[in-house]
Amino acid sequence: MSSKRVLVTGGAGFIGSHLCERLLADGHEVICLDNYFTGRRENIAHLLPHPRFELIRHDVVQPILLEAEQIYNFACPASPGAYQFNPVKTVKTSVMGAINMLGLAKRVKARILQASTSEVYGDPKVHPQVESYWGNVNPIGIRSCYDEGKRVAETLMFDYRRQNGVDSKIVRIFNTYGPRMRENDGRVVSNFIVQALRGEDLTVYGDGSQTRSFCFVDDLVEGVVRMMNTDNFFGPVNVGNPCEFTILQLAELVLAQTRSRATIVYKPLPADDPTQRQPDITLAKDKLDWQPRVPLAEGLARTIAYFREVVQVQH
Ligand code: NAD
Ligand code: UDP
Repeated sequence: MSSKRVLVTGGAGFIGSHLCERLLADGHEVICLDNYFTGRRENIAHLLPHPRFELIRHDVVQPILLEAEQIYNFACPASPGAYQFNPVKTVKTSVMGAINMLGLAKRVKARILQASTSEVYGDPKVHPQVESYWGNVNPIGIRSCYDEGKRVAETLMFDYRRQNGVDSKIVRIFNTYGPRMRENDGRVVSNFIVQALRGEDLTVYGDGSQTRSFCFVDDLVEGVVRMMNTDNFFGPVNVGNPCEFTILQLAELVLAQTRSRATIVYKPLPADDPTQRQPDITLAKDKLDWQPRVPLAEGLARTIAYFREVVQVQH
């Protein structure tokens, strides 16, 4: 693959930092852009000395003039707690961010890939979720700033393609986990691991029967990079791990793997929390020749090893 100048928005975040690392390893020049809302300089500190790496503090809500051949638009808080902190800003980040990055892509004739989400399916009535399903999303709930923001971002990808000929692509990412999730991120995998390591109660919301399908970050990045570099296919395409677990199963797995003596406590289920989620990845297998390789037990072990290094355990 020839070396390209690649822009990664949200590059100092959890997935973005792994993506920057991968793109550098593939020989590209990487511009990482982030406003550090949920991202951290520590996530990409090890990349700063790299001669092909550049870091820009910028908010995607504002336009920016840059040169790039490929744009991965990943800027957006992803954890419910983070995106509900300032919901209006979350909508602006998704919508204005997509408009600004599409404007840039149009001007410099770059290919752009939007990080969308399984949340566009809302609380799905079709299971597993296929790309042709239009979803079951509450437009006025507490998750809507994220779900609807991403749906508009998808709309913009298609309208800029139809109206302006922009080479846009959409990946619908399902729950992804791994090293560099924030300790206080609030998502279930990091919460459970951190709680187990500290010997605190694992907080299961609801009765724990709701399901999610967890994809290890390296698998996710591979799928995303393949999508960017596949011609004549612009998606949307689901990228995620189809192995579905209940949240209670996840809690038990984390307790077993950490050999923690912590217990499980039940907390109220947040509003609009989807009851089930599992990607149908037939399209990704067919068009990208991609499927996840890392089983949950192995990915959790790698994530637990990371958190053992960073979590402050009170004695
Ligand atoms: P993250 O919160 O770790 O990363 C998001 C990054 O975007 C952070 O570095 C943050 O500082 C940056 N950011 C936020 N608002 C910004 C703005 N206005 N301008 C510039 N930068 C901004 O989350 P993540 O899990 O790495 O998610 C990355 C992307 O993938 C997001 O777009 C998210 O919606 C999508 N996604 C993630 C998952 C998942 O399970 N991790 C699932 C579906 C979709
Ligand atoms: N969850 C939980 N305990 C936690 C955090 C989350 O039981 O400490 C549940 C949450 O209610 C949801 C699932 O785990 O049903 C996944 O939550 P997360 O915030 O990780 O992702 P999303 O809901 O966006 O898929």
